[in-house]
Amino acid sequence: MIIKLNSGDVVSRYLEKYRTSTSTIGFVPTMGYLHSGHLSLVKKSLQSSHATVVTIFVNPSQFGKDEDFGQYPRDTQRDIDLLSSMGDVGIYIPTMEEMYSPNHKTWIEVSALSNRLCGHSRKGHFRGVTTIVAKFLNIIQPDKMFMGEKDFQQLVILEKMVADLSYQTKIVRCPTIREQNGLAMSSRNKYLNSVEKEQAASIYQSLQQAVAKYKRQNVLSRKMIIDDLVSHIELHGGKIDYADVVDSQSLQPAEKVGPNCRILVAAFFGDTRLIDNIGFD
Ligand code: AMP
Repeated sequence: MIIKLNSGDVVSRYLEKYRTSTSTIGFVPTMGYLHSGHLSLVKKSLQSSHATVVTIFVNPSQFGKDEDFGQYPRDTQRDIDLLSSMGDVGIYIPTMEEMYSPNHKTWIEVSALSNRLCGHSRKGHFRGVTTIVAKFLNIIQPDKMFMGEKDFQQLVILEKMVADLSYQTKIVRCPTIREQNGLAMSSRNKYLNSVEKEQAASIYQSLQQAVAKYKRQNVLSRKMIIDDLVSHIELHGGKIDYADVVDSQSLQPAEKVGPNCRILVAAFFGDTRLIDNIGFD
């Protein structure tokens, strides 16, 4: 059953009875246009929480001025239909005014982690993400927040924010759900034509190849990994935005490739920017 929660006050009232030592509240933040990746998070929340709240909000402050905020796919009725078959889900779709009063002045920033990789290509993006998630955490006060590894940098930044600001919420990392050809599911995959969709499978192929090669050879430099990855993706028509092997916690370039590292990549297919990542463990 879908429980429509029309404002922050309604969310608080609905959750009141779950704020006990024996109940848990799960939270899944999304920008809507849901796919199986989002639904896997909702499923996890339903399995391990007494109440689940899903937010749908296309957050303008995480889009640059030349980005796709206006075109970002939206279909609220479809989202509600998808969620309604899953169980008792509270859906909170705030208005723009509720999230950003005309006089909004406060921003949250996890400075050290937010300026590299996606934060370098998308200036101000993570400041928008951390601010909106902080607002949702304040309203919902969940025990657990379910997030996808697909957005790995976002995950690490939010884990740091939650620790630094003493939120009582535990972030649950959830694996990336993929199309049959390996392409990570994303609402933005809608922008890809069928040729681009096939070509974009090269992103995950290149990540898997890098890990396989590392496991075969054991010693592999960061530069060798990046070079292989870039040539494989470019060979399949992609244009690299960034590719790097980083320490999984600091997100700084890895000095020595090992199990504590992760490859993060962003590439354009046509006009669509896609991201993906893989660990070595
Ligand atoms: P978004 O709607 O893109 O802001 O994503 C909302 C949440 O869903 C974030 O925690 C994402 O990491 C997660 N997510 C998006 N795509 C996937 C996917 N393919 N597999 C697992 N989680 C995902």
